[in-house]
Amino acid sequence: MADFPTTARVVIIGGGAVGTSVLYHLALAGWTDCVLLEKNELTAGSTWHAAGNVPTFSTSWAIMNMQRYSTELYRDLAEKVDYPMNYHVTGSIRLAHSKERVQEFERAKGMGRYQGMDISMMSPKEAQDLYPFMELHDLQGVLFDPNDGDIDPSQLTQALAKGARDLGARIERFCPATGVNRENGEWIVHTEKGDIRCEYVVNAAGYYAQTVGEWFKPYGGRIVPMMVMSHQYMLTDEIPEIEEYTAQHGKLPLLRDVDTSYYLRQEKTGLNLGPYERNCKAHWITPEDPFPEDFSFQLYPDDLERLEWYIEDAMARVPLLGTTGINKVINGPIPYAPDGLPLLGPMPGVPNAFEACVFTFGIAQSGGAGKVLAEWITEGQTEWDMWAVDPRRYTDYTDADYCIQKGMETYGHEYAMHFPWHVWPAGRGKKLSPVYDKILAAGGVMGAYNGWERANWFAKNGDDTSLETTHTWERSGPWERRIREECEAVRDGVGVLDLPGFSRFNLTGEGAAEWLRGMITGGLAKAGRMNLAYFADDRGRILTEMSVMRHDEDHFTLITAASAQWHDFEVLKNALPEGLSLTDHTTEYSTLIVTGPKSRAVFEQIADADLSLGWLSLQVAKVAGKNAALARVSFAGELGWEIHAKISDIPAIYDAVIGAGATPFGMWALNALRIEKGYRAWKGDLSTDYTLYEGGLDRFIKLDKPQEFRGKAALMNEKQQGSAKRFVTLIVDAGAADAPYMSTLWHDGQVVGETTSGAWGYRINASVALGMLRTDLAVVGTKLEVEIYGERRSATVQPDTPLWDPDNARLRA
Ligand SMILES: Cc1cc2nc3c(=O)[nH]c(=O)nc-3n(C[C@H](O)[C@H](O)[C@H](O)COP(=O)(O)OP(=O)(O)OC[C@H]3O[C@@H](n4cnc5c(N)ncnc54)[C@H](O)[C@@H]3O)c2cc1C
Repeated sequence: MADFPTTARVVIIGGGAVGTSVLYHLALAGWTDCVLLEKNELTAGSTWHAAGNVPTFSTSWAIMNMQRYSTELYRDLAEKVDYPMNYHVTGSIRLAHSKERVQEFERAKGMGRYQGMDISMMSPKEAQDLYPFMELHDLQGVLFDPNDGDIDPSQLTQALAKGARDLGARIERFCPATGVNRENGEWIVHTEKGDIRCEYVVNAAGYYAQTVGEWFKPYGGRIVPMMVMSHQYMLTDEIPEIEEYTAQHGKLPLLRDVDTSYYLRQEKTGLNLGPYERNCKAHWITPEDPFPEDFSFQLYPDDLERLEWYIEDAMARVPLLGTTGINKVINGPIPYAPDGLPLLGPMPGVPNAFEACVFTFGIAQSGGAGKVLAEWITEGQTEWDMWAVDPRRYTDYTDADYCIQKGMETYGHEYAMHFPWHVWPAGRGKKLSPVYDKILAAGGVMGAYNGWERANWFAKNGDDTSLETTHTWERSGPWERRIREECEAVRDGVGVLDLPGFSRFNLTGEGAAEWLRGMITGGLAKAGRMNLAYFADDRGRILTEMSVMRHDEDHFTLITAASAQWHDFEVLKNALPEGLSLTDHTTEYSTLIVTGPKSRAVFEQIADADLSLGWLSLQVAKVAGKNAALARVSFAGELGWEIHAKISDIPAIYDAVIGAGATPFGMWALNALRIEKGYRAWKGDLSTDYTLYEGGLDRFIKLDKPQEFRGKAALMNEKQQGSAKRFVTLIVDAGAADAPYMSTLWHDGQVVGETTSGAWGYRINASVALGMLRTDLAVVGTKLEVEIYGERRSATVQPDTPLWDPDNARLRA
């Protein structure tokens, strides 16, 4: 074992498509002193048996970026690393059975175009010209993706491995990692062949990721939120008609019937059929079926019975499929995170450790994943905002039951449309507000936010709250009337929103204020007041936003979005100097937003507080006889206070607020209200895809302060050079649907920007979109078009003041 490496900068555990891609991209970045450990032969996990489809389609901007990058990488990888491989770019046709599906395709097409891809829509008849063996029943439209194709997953992995090795990186095969230790700020990775000391560790162990994740628990880690599904595809015998067709025209495009839920791809001169079935099967979740020590190169027994309905449907679509026999069935383990997206990024709670695991489309995504993870390690930030796959999007509520329920729900709906009003029912009720029962009794139709149940809207007797009604991209539905009423109650009277799960951190210690000034881009409020603070990355991009309550010179409470809990805690903790104390109190306190012109009258009845204190003031008060902090802010943009109180005191306070005349309102009304004020939402309007200047956050940047906050140099530079894009508010002549995230903005036949969020504003009675626009066009009155589900709708750039109450007079009343 003389040449076994004992030190490395990075150790990657797992040699599938993803692990090797991470190694390759690290080596490309010049980090060649890296070692990949594979317990068996490369590809022994899910990779060897994958079907190898490489789509670019996604309705997530981040996922599309990752998949697009993969296709670009794979196109010339063989030549680049001198490792021949089979990669067929055949294009694909994706079939729509409904108007809503056509709209979904149109949206993806618009996003794809913006990423430089030539995705197009075609009629079923045109698609049949590309795929003459297809029947056209039930079809409303077809999306053609010319970049889709299939690759040999083993060859891909070997090519990435060769590329990495040629650059100087090392791969140790048949070398299981057996554990880790942390000593003097370094990791020691134990293997059967010896220990390796390193700076960074990557868990790329595929469906073994939870086992590997266990080793990191003593160092702040958690149980990796995942489960394993059985996934099958079947290969047919040769089909003479396909052989003949291929000889004349080349390979057939891949066909995806997403409403039925399967793909059908030409494999040599036969077909490969792969359904995602509703009546799906999880593995390794019971004591009778324990997780195996080693499953290298193994499969589950065939189980075609549960696919019968899908096979019949596919045979009706492509009758040729029924003319031949099944030659081979592959039934293999496929890991699922609760939302079906991978875990890619910093390992929550653990220093210098990363995750690149739990991929369900790891062949299509490994190229992009390697790039992203290498950036995380070498630069501490990524080119594209990757929150969609960031492991910190899941926190402590993802127990085994949750992961299994969600994994099965996601697998069974792998191709489902994600409608804005639809809330998936599995894995619910994980974190309940102390007034959860009261909210339900008032008609609350709930959604989960970082596991916390909050009302999205309040239904009244007779309202249809079934899931079926939510299968629409359009604004209208049973909720619309109620959202309007809730917004009007806030506009004309007073509303109350129960907001459990606001992330809440306490920061104390001598020098806390000075340290915080060095972290944020702007200034701090005086003691007894609060303000918004922004954290930038090195490029001056928007890392996060927090509300900073300043109780005393060096005593702060930082409040941030529910879903940002672990992300934002780490932003602070990772930079925290000795002597300061940072603690998470999210589960000890809760928040009620009480807002509307009559909110002062409510507090006059129930609170012992100074209600004359102005906007952004903070005070300790008694509400309904209970201790509470009152913060004079309103995300709804009306007069109002947030009540922050101990969980046990919230029920009494809530009853008092309701008793004093407040109307409950939900998250969807809040979204409508905040957009009329131009208030940004996290990971839509506020993301690392934009700098603070682009985001229009100039007033939160103090370049003249002495502290060298992160991103300062980049922001100084941008201020001098000017920004390429600017944040704008648009009024849209929207039709039935408001602009979703990443709808493209058009001007003079060119795409000139994109929306970051959109909603109907019920106080101004207009459809509003927030977005990013080419700077020269970001001028009040510019006429644009917004492409909403394929339809171009006219829009106008608005002044850089809130659409509702531009002078904030109501807020300050
Ligand atoms: C039937 C089927 C069809 C599929 N078809 C497609 C498709 O068409 N397109 C697509 O994109 N995806 C497809 N997938 C999914 C795809 O296979 C996976 O997403 C992908 O292979 C994941 O790659 P990975 O590198 O993350 O994990 P894996 O390939 O599972 O690699 C993890 C590696 O880690 C190693 N390892 C684990 N523990 C240790 C340890 N302690 N020490 C050292 N090494 C360790 C394992 O041996 C394994 O080789 C399919 C999956 C199935 C089951």
